[in-house]
Amino acid sequence: MPLWQFCRGVKGLPGAIEPIDWPTKTLTLDGGRFTHTHAVSFDRLVLALGGVTDLSAGPGLVNYRWPGRFSVGETLNAQFAGVRTGFHRALQPTSLARVPEKGYQRNPTMNSSRFCRYIFFIATAAVLAARERPHHVVLITIDGLRWQEVFRGAEEALMTTDKTAGGGVPAGSLTALKADFLADTPEERRRKLMPFFWGTLVPAGQAFGNRDLGSAARVLNAERISYPGYNELLTGALDPLITSNMPIPNRNVTVLEWLHGRPGFAGRVGAAAAWRVFAPIINVGRSRLPVFVTQQHSAPGTVSPRISELERMMDDIPPITPEENFDAFVYYATLDLMDTLRPRVFLLALGEPDEWAHARRYDRYLYSIQRCDRFIRQLWEKLQADPEYRGTTSFVLSSDHGRGVTPEDWIGHNKKIPHAEETWIAAIGPAVPALGERRNVAEVHQAQVAATVAALVGENFRAAFPAAAEPIADVVRGPAAK
Ligand SMILES: [Zn+2]
Repeated sequence: MPLWQFCRGVKGLPGAIEPIDWPTKTLTLDGGRFTHTHAVSFDRLVLALGGVTDLSAGPGLVNYRWPGRFSVGETLNAQFAGVRTGFHRALQPTSLARVPEKGYQRNPTMNSSRFCRYIFFIATAAVLAARERPHHVVLITIDGLRWQEVFRGAEEALMTTDKTAGGGVPAGSLTALKADFLADTPEERRRKLMPFFWGTLVPAGQAFGNRDLGSAARVLNAERISYPGYNELLTGALDPLITSNMPIPNRNVTVLEWLHGRPGFAGRVGAAAAWRVFAPIINVGRSRLPVFVTQQHSAPGTVSPRISELERMMDDIPPITPEENFDAFVYYATLDLMDTLRPRVFLLALGEPDEWAHARRYDRYLYSIQRCDRFIRQLWEKLQADPEYRGTTSFVLSSDHGRGVTPEDWIGHNKKIPHAEETWIAAIGPAVPALGERRNVAEVHQAQVAATVAALVGENFRAAFPAAAEPIADVVRGPAAK
């Protein structure tokens, strides 16, 4: 059993220490594959070395060590108070300054910000006063993306030209489509469709919803259409009065609006959505959240030059429908809002796959899913290159509903279409245990996403909304999560 589990108030973060940033007193713990990292700031850093460490190997080690040997029992019983007192006393004379060409030297005249304090000892130990930096979360929804494509990849039976009961693929596109997405196994096919999701996100995070492996995710609302689905996803509860996609301002408070009112989140919550109805779903009139939506026209000076440019382009390029434009606009708006808003919590709502499915264009449906995966990868890489977001950012991915499963009804979704309640949920982040593709686990629900998002930034949504569903335990149960 890890030692920290014996010590109350001590948080264990296993990993390899990357270079320590002394000016900001921050170190990065590399927890393993890919970017599963923790950024940890500290007041004082204790390096606890083993009993057989060669102390002559590093400058200052012999002079400034604080030798001792403590059993687990000693750290737990009353003697530990004495150990800690001695430890604090020992910290005082060990202020070191980096002197060019001479390595580290004791510098008794300097006493805090320009140098760091070290102590070396041999025993059980803790990083004292370690504070994790504020966490961030990006909730990404992909409208109408079926779990079947997520987990099995492209479906060959829908690669047909049939425009009434099939995929509606133009004859001239079939060969290229098959070359781009077909392969012998589901694992190969899904990796062609969503290479970032399967190559990076799931191995370092979790994905629920593969019913072939005994993992089910579903919406609880009976409607199986978008507004009820997003309401369930963002408020954690069902509203029997929301039965259509009518753009009526939401009477319910979303987790975005609630978090915006929590300490540390004011002015740092926003959204960008391909579907115009997100403005009423998030109730921008009441929540006052900045929400970029398709075909919006902002008053001069109220948005960035980049957003203004995107608004002009949306006017100049025919939208897919009057309510929805291409995901590229939403993606570029998101990049801009990351730089200008610096959000702690952000919703990126992509929408093209649903539009192309309704249009019975399996080819465009697949290519739009592949683009969504690329947008998500690029956003992840941008944030991992940003010192504030690197190692502190979680992504939660899901959809608003499933779709039919036959060649006739795969294009649609509503309460009359079987299997349209079936969906999927995935997450990655510094506190999300890397359990990968889940199998043989309890069913998870769309309503759990709201509290999960809040928990990933250290907030308890259900304390304010007891009717909301619980967070997904395995996602928020990480070693760093409370
Ligand atoms: Zn739809």
